[in-house]
Amino acid sequence: EDVVNKIAAGEIIVAPVHALKELIENAVDAGSTSLEILVKDGGLKLLQITDNGAGIQKDDLPVLCERFTTSKLKAFEDLQAIGTYGFRGEALASISHIAHLTVTTKPSDSSCAWKAHYASGKLAPAKPGQAADPKACAGRQGTQILVEDLFYNVPTRRRAFRSASEEYAKIAELVGKYAVHCKAVAFSCKKHGEAGAGIAVPGTAGVKDRIRTVHSSAIANELLEVDVGNRQYGFKAEGLVSNANYSGKRTTLLLFINHRSVESSAIKKAVEQTYAMFLPKGGKPFVYLSLDIDPARVDVNVHPTKREVNFLNEDEIIELICDDVRDRLGKVDTSRTF
Ligand code: ADP
Ligand code: MG
Repeated sequence: EDVVNKIAAGEIIVAPVHALKELIENAVDAGSTSLEILVKDGGLKLLQITDNGAGIQKDDLPVLCERFTTSKLKAFEDLQAIGTYGFRGEALASISHIAHLTVTTKPSDSSCAWKAHYASGKLAPAKPGQAADPKACAGRQGTQILVEDLFYNVPTRRRAFRSASEEYAKIAELVGKYAVHCKAVAFSCKKHGEAGAGIAVPGTAGVKDRIRTVHSSAIANELLEVDVGNRQYGFKAEGLVSNANYSGKRTTLLLFINHRSVESSAIKKAVEQTYAMFLPKGGKPFVYLSLDIDPARVDVNVHPTKREVNFLNEDEIIELICDDVRDRLGKVDTSRTF
């Protein structure tokens, strides 16, 4: 059974960034206003995420990493349950099967923090021979998750990684997306042992300043607001997209559906086509879109390894968004030169 769990987990979490995505979403769901991320060896040696959210009750710690353990209400689940997983309560369980997991947490009504280690879904001792029970310790309100030696027991997966810097680049890209999207949340992301470098966004920063910090002033200075919705299709889209004065080498698409970062090659293709009429040949846009879609219209039961999301009336919704972008692009003076 353990082997099955391990294999299943290794298929869902293929790279460190997939584990981190789940941890970021958990921290945000817990109402955190600060997320600090530390990464060692592209996340293979260490992924550490410290939040200041609601914390986890001590009584919940023994079952925390069992499959389908979730504190999230059905309605909330449906609303949020898209992204890497089509089903819930599996992230921590999966991680515990393929890494050494340590959770330190302090809810606001607890006088101390509690620290627990996990292996293969269960509480485990910190060192062989010790007790597996959570231990009282000092700590601030919130939760710190340590994921160490990811894939230590999945050698084939481990060998598949070519470079730590490639894995770190994926992590920085993901953190950058959430740092733009999660207003009122402070983000930091650092490589272990490196001062300064990384992402640092204060909680007070507005969206444009977040884009300036994570991306560039060249982008932040050339943004148009997008705001479009439709009752019939049960969606609303808001965002900031580059105008025709900005022309990048690659399309940057920050896409959130119901506040989860997702991929959509259909949306990417459509926006590229929309911009093709406005940008010099080969020029690519920056697009940040936050879509709220009636959860009943989103397919949450996609295979867990599938990172794309499906929703009803996809073509119509994409067309409405692109029409809005096209209208706004058309109204901007593109004769300015720099
Ligand atoms: P899910 O998020 O689908 O509920 P997870 O395996 O990701 O499943 O997490 C299991 C449960 O652990 C969550 O429902 C939540 O109660 C708790 N949890 C995980 N991370 C945190 C966190 N950073 N702060 C507070 N609670 C957390
Ligand atoms: Mg989760």
